[in-house]
Amino acid sequence: MRSVLLLPILIAAGLLTTHLSASAIEVMPASTWGAVPDAAPAEPQTTITHITLHHQGETWVPGSDVPTYLRKLQHWSRETKHWADIPYHYVIDPEGKVYAARPENIAGDTNTEYNPRGHVLVMVLGNFEEVEPNAAQLQATVELMAQLARKHGLDAGAIASHRDYSKQTVCPGKNLYRYLENGWIARAVTARLDGQPMPALP
Ligand SMILES: [Zn+2]
Repeated sequence: MRSVLLLPILIAAGLLTTHLSASAIEVMPASTWGAVPDAAPAEPQTTITHITLHHQGETWVPGSDVPTYLRKLQHWSRETKHWADIPYHYVIDPEGKVYAARPENIAGDTNTEYNPRGHVLVMVLGNFEEVEPNAAQLQATVELMAQLARKHGLDAGAIASHRDYSKQTVCPGKNLYRYLENGWIARAVTARLDGQPMPALP
């Protein structure tokens, strides 16, 4: 009787320990927003060397449904732009929830002159030329970037933004770019890679 009772406790404890030690942020799989897989996937990118920050660049209306937005963005990306998928690999919503978008092994797309091959693209919903990113979005950006850096054997030096590679854009918007400029994102990602708590927002 005793061993029967013990087993679920051990399982629960094991799951808890795994979750905490990995310090992983939950990523909602693309299936959760109704993604349609690419019928003919492009040649895969095998090596990720850069983690690159973008913003949506459009006003996000509070309360909008994120899965609906992602389905529309996927449809537009394919039908209008003739891209393989949503141009970004991950999308962070205003609550800091992370959604998988384009599969990571398919290089991203862009309207500008930089070549995103070898980059994993992280997009934050909103127009940060106009509004400020909130704490949940900033913290999710750091947790996701730390997770991606760990996965691909990178450090905070791999992190930059769209405008660092292209003269044709202000993306990710001045109010989000500020956190790259002042070094907070790099410090916070480095802290998380070292298993330390995230430093306070400046
Ligand atoms: Zn961009």
